[in-house]
Order: sequence, then C-alpha cells, then structure tokens
Amino acid sequence: MMVAMATKTPDREAAQAAGAVARVDQAPSSWGLGDGAAIPWEYAPAPESRDIVTIRDRYGLFINGREVQASGGETFPSVNPATEEQLTVVAKATEKDIDTAVRAARTAQRRRWGSLSGKERAKYLFRIARILQERSREFAVLESMDSGKPIKESRDVDIPLAAAHFWYYAGWADKLEYAFPGRVARPLGVAAQIIPWNFPFLMLAWKIAPALAAGNTVVLKPASTTPLSALLFAEVCRQADLPPGVVNIVPGPGSVGMSLVTHPDVDKVAFTGSTEIGRQIFKGVAGTDKGLTLELGGKAANIVFDDAPLDQAVEGIVNGIYFNQGEVCCAGSRLLAQESIVEPLIEKLKDRLSTIRVGDPLDKNTDVGAINSRSQLEKITELVAAGRAEGADMYQPACDLPERGYFFRPTLFTNVAQSHRIAREEIFGPVLSVLTFRTPEEAVEKANNTPYGLSAGIWTDKGSRILHMVKRMKAGVVWANTFNRFDPTSPFGGYKESGFGREGGMHGLHAYVRLEDR
Ligand code: NDP
Repeated sequence: MMVAMATKTPDREAAQAAGAVARVDQAPSSWGLGDGAAIPWEYAPAPESRDIVTIRDRYGLFINGREVQASGGETFPSVNPATEEQLTVVAKATEKDIDTAVRAARTAQRRRWGSLSGKERAKYLFRIARILQERSREFAVLESMDSGKPIKESRDVDIPLAAAHFWYYAGWADKLEYAFPGRVARPLGVAAQIIPWNFPFLMLAWKIAPALAAGNTVVLKPASTTPLSALLFAEVCRQADLPPGVVNIVPGPGSVGMSLVTHPDVDKVAFTGSTEIGRQIFKGVAGTDKGLTLELGGKAANIVFDDAPLDQAVEGIVNGIYFNQGEVCCAGSRLLAQESIVEPLIEKLKDRLSTIRVGDPLDKNTDVGAINSRSQLEKITELVAAGRAEGADMYQPACDLPERGYFFRPTLFTNVAQSHRIAREEIFGPVLSVLTFRTPEEAVEKANNTPYGLSAGIWTDKGSRILHMVKRMKAGVVWANTFNRFDPTSPFGGYKESGFGREGGMHGLHAYVRLEDR
C-alpha cells in the first residue's frame, strides 16, 4: 500500500448538509488512534493506465461476422459516467437491422452451428475463453470507463467471471447427453438476448456462453449506456474465427429491444433488467411458443443474528450493498439486524463506511465508482430524499466527491419502517436501509415481505439456524455468512417479481435446449 501524508480537506459543510454525521477526517475508533484523532495518512492515487484500450471514434453493428452501419444511419453517444466525457458514438440499430441480424443468426444456426458436433463448438468456446483471459486487462479498463464500476471489480470479478462462464460451458458443449441423461438435447434455434448496464460484459457471458454451447445462435442487444464491451467482444468473435452469424450484436434503444423480442423468427428470449420492462417482454412473447427467462429486480434482506461474528458480517454487509455502487439486482439493500446487536453493528458499520473510497473508477484504490448514468443518479437521489422525508435517519460518511461525473456517497438509513419507500423499492444505488427483528420468525416474515425474491443473506454461527432460515426464505439464492458470491457452476435466478428461469450451472444450459426422448 502506498501512503502519503494527508493534505485533503473534506467538505464538512456539504457532508453535514447531506445528513452526514460529523466524523470528517477522523480515524474510525476501531483504528485505536484515540478519540477524534486525525487520519494520519492518505492513499496515493494509483490510476490504471488507459493506454491498453483503443476506443475508435465510431462503432457499427456486428451482423453476420461483419461490422455494418445502421440502416437508418443514426448513432448515439456512449459517455464515461465518471467524467461525463463522450467516449465514442455507436450505430443505432433499427427494426430493419434486427430483421437482418435474426436472419443471419437463423442461417448460421441451420447451415453451420446447429449441425456442428459438440466437440467442435467447444473448441470455439475454449478459444473465446482463452482470448478473454489474454485480453482481460483491456476488457476491464474499457468496462470501467464505459460503466463507472471500479477497476478492481471489473479486473477481479466481472472479466474473470465472464471468462469462467465460457470455460465452464465449453466443457458442457460435447457432454449434453450427460447433462440430461436419457434425453436428447436439441438447440432451440435463435436466441434474442437483452442485457443491462450494471454488469455489461458478465451478463453477455451469462447469456452467450450457454446458448452457443447448446448449439443456438444469438442476437444480443446491450444497454444503451454500456455498449462498448459487447462491441469489443465482436472483435473477439472474429479473432476466434467464429462462423459469421453465430453471434450478432445490435446496440440500440429499448424499442429495438422490443422488435427483437417480438421478431417472429426468434425461438428464445433471455432478458435481464427492470421488472417493469420484464413485464412488457412477458407480454411481447405471450401467445407464442418462444422460451423465456427473466432475471429482474430485487430487494434482498441481509439478516444478521446476535451470534454472528460482527466484524465479518460488517464486511459482508458492505460487500452486499456497496459493491458495484449498489447497482446489483441481488444487492443486500435491506439489513435486518437482531435487536440485541443492532447498536454495536451500526457503530461498526459507520466506522467501516468512513474508510470506503469513492471516486475515479480507474484508480485501483477506489471502492465505489460512478453511478452508471445521470438518470440513475437522479433516481437514487429521489429515493434517498423520500427516505429522509418519510422520517428515516440518514448517515453518509464525509468524503470528497469528484467535481464532475455521477457520484453518490455510500448511504445508511436507520429508523426505517417496512412501509418506507427505501425499504420497498429497488434503489439500485449505494443505499442501505436498516430494519430490526427479535425472533427468527419475525426475520423470515420481514425478509419475505417484498414483491421480489431474488436473493438473501444470513449471518449466524449456527448451521442449524442457517438450514432453518434457508427453507423459509422466498429467494432464489441464499448466501450464508457471505454475500454476492458467484460461480459459473451455480444457478442464479428469482421468484415472484424477480423473474423466472435460472442462469448458470446446468440449469442455465437447460434454458437453451429442447429435450426429446431417445
Ligand atoms: P431497463 O430494464 O430499462 O434496461 C435493461 C435492458 O432492457 C437495456 O438493454 C434496455 O435498453 C432494454 N430495454 C429497455 N426498454 C425495453 C423494451 N421496451 N423492450 C426490450 N428491451 C428494453 O433498465 P433501466 O436501465 O431503465 O434501469 C431502471 C431500473 O431497472 C434500475 O434503476 C434498476 O432498479 C432496474 N435494473 C435492474 C437490473 C437487474 O439486473 N435486475 C439491471 C438494470 C436495471 P436501453 O439501455 O437502450 O434502454
């Protein structure tokens, strides 16, 4: 760790105006420096170099193995949310382009990819995985610039996990008969895939890797604020010599996404994003025989019992809600703390929050980067204001935010009632709402008191209590004494308004095959 003497003067007034408790420039008590002691050092900047990434002035669509301009000739900008600078402009696909892309995918599926042996498909997927590892730093820097996520997360989580999904599903491509014993697994055909902006490249990998392994071809629409890593992936497809039309990438607005969903020659739709758009997509495929998986929002409970190791739980809570600026569908945005330990837990949490570093996503020391877009920042700001107006108590550590860019301080609300909007609505930002409970039954009731059902966390010393709770939680994923852990072998997905279908593991493969009797 590099250190330099403190020269920073935090903006105490602004922090207090925003509701921060005045701990400005003071070491957390857990550091043992004495009450009110000044923090004796500051991290030196450790910026990751941008040189490894070449961003062109303009990007086209990727259809049938070639870069093409949009038929309407229109483009849209992609902006770096940390600086508000325009990075490039990207071709805006039209309904006509979607049709061209679906036809290309259909032809590739019929003539080539669908009849290739599993062993041959695996070779391509292994090749892609290897190239992703070779180019991982380039992908990580680009992803951080386009999305605002800290480089340490794109470098250590998003990109390695994305590569791991290609390795994992490459392994299944020639073993489908073992994945589905006694059945014959046939590809569905052409998959329409729509992904969000919070994990742009990881969501691409979650969707493309199993689809290709099972013999499908794909047309993928990235989110409008984060199209660049998908377009870099187009280069990887060419580098891997993937047959033309197997992967097609069509950036464009939501309306283009809907044209893709409703295209009559699509066999399967996979969507990750908001519950509201998920509903529209559900309606869009109703009455057809298209396969559908929806991975939507969440409002996860992270439950801490009085026998939990508190310091470990604090790390899990911080990881649960401040990882990726809280822009995570499975974020642990509701902390349920057992009443007897709520005070020391909150004290420790506040201490820990004062050490979180908010700022330049490309700085390797940054913990919380930029919010993905101005509109998302406005949504977070509005919900936080609602929290204060409804009577919850807000704490934000004092920290300087960069002058430009879409940044938001890590925020903690106590004195939260279940009826408050901040306890009910998905904020998708670095905002934690703390509620309390007395008994396990009350914890279950409160945790399940949400229209969502994507994830949950349990912190306790007792294995039997974990099992007791897991059985009662209505959530697709329940983490015990950890949070936000992902693995390609493990299925992920939700209940209720969090959607249906699973991605990851063999379940993820199942969503891309039609099973027939032998
Ligand atoms: P959306 O659900 O609008 O975006 C997700 C993807 O769907 C994007 O590619 C988007 O394209 C596309 N899309 C938008 N409208 C349509 C449509 N009518 N038909 C087909 N595709 C469409 O999320 P937002 O970006 O608007 O975020 C709003 C909220 O949604 C967030 O605040 C958060 O609460 C939640 N969210 C949840 C995510 C999750 O992982 N569960 C991920 C992202 C957001 P485009 O980008 O061009 O609009």
